[in-house]
Amino acid sequence: RAKKDGPGRVLVYQPYMHAEALDRLSLRGDLQRALRDGEFRLQYQPLIRLADGRAAGVEALIRWNSPTRGFVSPVDFIPIAEEFGLIVDIGQWVLETSALQVAKWRRDFPDLGLNVNVSGHQLVHPRFADNVMRALAIAGLPSSAVTLELTESVLMSEPDLGKSALNVLRGLGVQLSIDDFGTGYSSLAYLRELPVDELKIDRAFIARAELTAEDLALVRTIVELAQILGLRVVAEGIENAAQLSALRGLGCGYGQGYHLCRPTDPEFMPDRLADAQVESPVGVLDHRSTA
Ligand code: C2E
Ligand code: MG
Ligand code: MG
Ligand code: MG
Repeated sequence: RAKKDGPGRVLVYQPYMHAEALDRLSLRGDLQRALRDGEFRLQYQPLIRLADGRAAGVEALIRWNSPTRGFVSPVDFIPIAEEFGLIVDIGQWVLETSALQVAKWRRDFPDLGLNVNVSGHQLVHPRFADNVMRALAIAGLPSSAVTLELTESVLMSEPDLGKSALNVLRGLGVQLSIDDFGTGYSSLAYLRELPVDELKIDRAFIARAELTAEDLALVRTIVELAQILGLRVVAEGIENAAQLSALRGLGCGYGQGYHLCRPTDPEFMPDRLADAQVESPVGVLDHRSTA
């Protein structure tokens, strides 16, 4: 029977592949509807200055609670949105919404910055720089308050196209960050060629920062690299007090993570920002031991 069917494996796998293709197509439709019907939300996670425990800025993180699928992680739907060319519109919604929100918060927290994740598909769009500046203009948010987060893989895969847009934006005062630093390509050449302002150490390294001397040495090296190049350095994924004190010991400037503050709905952010502003460094550091 197997012989007669020839490449029978194809038949065996066909129903599964068909189902997957159908699901991708329906996801595409659902994502289009989500944007149209306002199903996306943003949460915000503070970037904390480790020296004094204050919130230097917030990172916008997209959330999708689908009426039919329930909560879908951006890790799962962003790649589909990229594949179907929807990320430019979704990304623009994120930029405009977060810029308006942070402009509002800056009335009470004047120095608050905004970090926004940007997909490589947005970066290579011919009007990317215009789109970013338009969002900031609508919100009345100064470009100097905004940091665009790009991943290493994006920077390496689109070196030329991306570079010109990034240089334009940098010239207009927007700051640039390399997200998930340390997990991408091994070449560091782009650090000299691109107008980078900030490195975000991937949480894969931070989660291990309490474990071995080798892991600590790796994080220390990234912190020192940032210092040598005059860049801000942010540790992602700080989940406990031990990681926090290790990072402070290494002179890491900024941190993000569940231990400092979880991604938070906008209505609760002003309270969290106020907490962070008045909390003493000791209060932040001894958070666990005083509890
Ligand atoms: P990312 O930019 O590296 O964001 C950090 C992720 O780590 C977020 O996951 C955040 O919720 C999570 N996180 C924060 N602190 C901790 C911690 O202490 N421990 C752990 N285990 N995780 C922590 P999230 O929100 O699920 O986002 C995942 C990724 O999806 C982001 O990684 C980013 O690459 C992408 N993403 C999120 N929002 C957007 C967006 O608006 N546009 C684009 N293009 N990508 C986005
Ligand atoms: Mg990010
Ligand atoms: Mg990251
Ligand atoms: Mg990440």
